[in-house]
Amino acid sequence: MAVYLAALDQGTTSSRAVIFTGDGQVVSSFNREFPQHYPKPGWVEHDPRDILDTQVASLREAVRLADINPADIAAIGITNQRETTFLWDRKTGESVGNAIVWQCRRTAPMVDELVRGGHGDMIREKTGLVPDAYFSGTKLKWMLDYYNLRDKAEQGDLCFGTADSFLCWNLLEDRPHVTDATNAGRTMLFNLHTQDWDEDLLKLLGIPKACLPRVVDTAGPIGVLDPAILGRRIPVTAMAGDQHASLFGQACLRVGSIKNTYGTGCFMLMNTGDQPVMSRNGLLTTMAWRIGGKPTYALEGSVFMGGATIQWLRDELKIISHASETEALAQSITGTGGVYLVPAFTGLGAPWWDMYSRGTLVGMTRGTGRPQIVRAALEAIAYQSADLMEAMGKDAGHQPEQLQVDGGASANGFLMQFQADISGIPVVRPKVLETTALGAALLAGLGAGVYGSLEETARVWKKDLEFTPKMDEATRLLEMGGWHRAVERSLNWVNH
Ligand code: ADP
Repeated sequence: MAVYLAALDQGTTSSRAVIFTGDGQVVSSFNREFPQHYPKPGWVEHDPRDILDTQVASLREAVRLADINPADIAAIGITNQRETTFLWDRKTGESVGNAIVWQCRRTAPMVDELVRGGHGDMIREKTGLVPDAYFSGTKLKWMLDYYNLRDKAEQGDLCFGTADSFLCWNLLEDRPHVTDATNAGRTMLFNLHTQDWDEDLLKLLGIPKACLPRVVDTAGPIGVLDPAILGRRIPVTAMAGDQHASLFGQACLRVGSIKNTYGTGCFMLMNTGDQPVMSRNGLLTTMAWRIGGKPTYALEGSVFMGGATIQWLRDELKIISHASETEALAQSITGTGGVYLVPAFTGLGAPWWDMYSRGTLVGMTRGTGRPQIVRAALEAIAYQSADLMEAMGKDAGHQPEQLQVDGGASANGFLMQFQADISGIPVVRPKVLETTALGAALLAGLGAGVYGSLEETARVWKKDLEFTPKMDEATRLLEMGGWHRAVERSLNWVNH
């Protein structure tokens, strides 16, 4: 009998379901978008009903497209947009307002206050996170304050959760109120060291423990899918935040292994093993996963303008009409001729952390044209990723041996080769680029006993292409030096 694994990938703009075979081949995949709500400048919300409806519809459609018997799905794994905050009534299931999306900046003043109050170091030390409105903690506090629901929460009549938690409660029989350790680790309420909700942080933010979900392992029995959905009681045996699932789907199981996802932004995670490494270079410390009660940690960093830099070439400069054109344009010349683009459109993140830097194009001559600017834009994605990787290497005490890649822009061969050249290590692209869904499916397979060990899940990962570094060391250092001089020009630009 065939064994299939299903992944629910609840993203920021769409809900997706993917059916895999046990050896990691995609059988079918279906994606449904849902509306974004921007009630005020800087605010972002999702209607919880949309999340549920699109997720159920995509699962049903993926199963229909796969043309399989739901009884042959051995297990389901859930992966999700992280930090987005849901609150609902434990008795009726009714949501309290819309979910507050990770991008929403409404609680920035609350975070400023926490930092002014001298709590920044404690938050950092306990959670591994840089205090920010991005994480769920202040979003939940905002909801409890705004809707005046603290008493109700104290009495245990409300449930807080991220998308994983919300989906489990709504889609599983017996409505378990759970979250996994990777998602819990993004709330700013979870202590990485004790692997539990932190009393001091709960007190600081005025969050009653009674509304928090139980924290479970990333892989392991969670419950069964409500038979009303597919007509079968299918075990749900994994939950993980999207970047963590992708790290797993890239088989980054060894300490020091590292992946970079080239989407709108880039997300880089490095497995640091059974000890959390506290960054001295502005990176986040986060869970890789927790399996069999045993935590594995990771360092995380992101590039704000990854593929978005290419969208800018297309939508604002209008010098390309499709992202895929950039590869041939970049390859039509041998170099940018000393042109560097620093796409600090919204400031720069790790390792620079300068919100006052702005986009900068330097080194132009009379001969600079479209190919040079396009190439400089692609190179900028690689330079920023190289900076992140170096910061991670410094924090972890060793530089990685190779970089596993995925995401939309990893399709660009020029970008991947330049990444290998400028980082001085091989860049490896797998056959299945849907590593987030694959990771959730593999974790589910592990949790359900389809795979007997972590090593067995890693064997499912298959290399497609490897880009080996070809640039000599002197050129590499020269190019990196030029990039860093360009970054310096962009720093501290707008008035503050
Ligand atoms: P997200 O999940 O963030 O929506 P995707 O993984 O779908 O992102 O990747 C989309 C991004 O990748 C876009 O910003 C797009 O500009 C970029 N992109 C897609 N194809 C290419 C390509 N061939 N070369 C460079 N960038 C690309």
